[in-house]
Amino acid sequence: MASITVLGLGLMGSALARTLHKRGQQLIVWNRSKAKMQPFEKLGVSCADDLRSAVSASRVILVCIDNYASTRALLDTPEVSATLAGKTIVQVSSGTPKDAVVAADWAHALGATYLDGAILAGPKDIGTDEATILLSGDDAGFTLARPMLDCLGDGTVRYLGANVRAASALDLAWLMSRYGNFIAAIHAAKICQSEDVGVDELIRLVPDNVAIQRYAQVIHDQSFDKFTASLRVWGEALHHIQDQGRQADISTEIPDFIGGLFNRAMSAGMGESNVMSLIKVLDPPKPE
Ligand code: NAP
Repeated sequence: MASITVLGLGLMGSALARTLHKRGQQLIVWNRSKAKMQPFEKLGVSCADDLRSAVSASRVILVCIDNYASTRALLDTPEVSATLAGKTIVQVSSGTPKDAVVAADWAHALGATYLDGAILAGPKDIGTDEATILLSGDDAGFTLARPMLDCLGDGTVRYLGANVRAASALDLAWLMSRYGNFIAAIHAAKICQSEDVGVDELIRLVPDNVAIQRYAQVIHDQSFDKFTASLRVWGEALHHIQDQGRQADISTEIPDFIGGLFNRAMSAGMGESNVMSLIKVLDPPKPE
């Protein structure tokens, strides 16, 4: 039996799986499109032929796919859900606190324990002290999964307790700080560009804000094709902030405004590019 199953080998899921493998964990991986399993096969990692055998192979199921609806659609089939009793599902796909509650209720009804997770870091940080990973939900699940989950950071994996909403709530709050930096960086760069001042001067001005420096550097270098999370993934995470606002009856005015920029970028085909491509939607339309 493997110690952990990883479902989803996108940019983040593959970083989690690679790190678990490097740290000596016995893992089995599965991804919807088979091509993403090939690099793992070459590393000697077990790759499941189908989802049911992936889920059956270990007691801890780590899920990192696009959202909770996809996770539910994957696992909530008679053949897969029948294998989940006694297992711990750890969901690190992004979602809302309400998604976490619904997922936990569903897992409990099947006799599984549930941990909701949030990764406040990029793929390159996984396994390092930069990888803040928050978990909330069943204590027993955390005890079982802890030896594996601890490998994903360096003293930076934190269990927040039984309130399953906590990891997602803090994730959304943290994400909001990133969106604030995005819009600050693009408008600040626009000011510089419009007045013939180098964006490198802006970078020099904000030594106390490494995030703005990093985003402004992308604009300065025009390196919009390099990214560790796509503009699409950032745009989808913003929907969770909007949903949480509506569910909790707090104003969504700020995320709605930022969401408008993301929608325009997505419509213009920029989904698979660096999030700083957002600056391009601020350009006035070119005359015909
Ligand atoms: P990604 O590179 O776009 O990968 C998406 C993954 O989800 C792929 O493995 C994809 O499978 C799978 N998937 C999508 N829809 C599916 C479905 N209906 N059934 C089964 N699998 C499905 O995204 P990512 O960057 O790895 O992000 C994954 C999750 O981690 C997201 O919730 C994201 O918000 C979260 N996250 C990402 C980062 C980051 O920096 N990248 C940071 C924190 C949290 P295919 O290969 O078959 O399409």
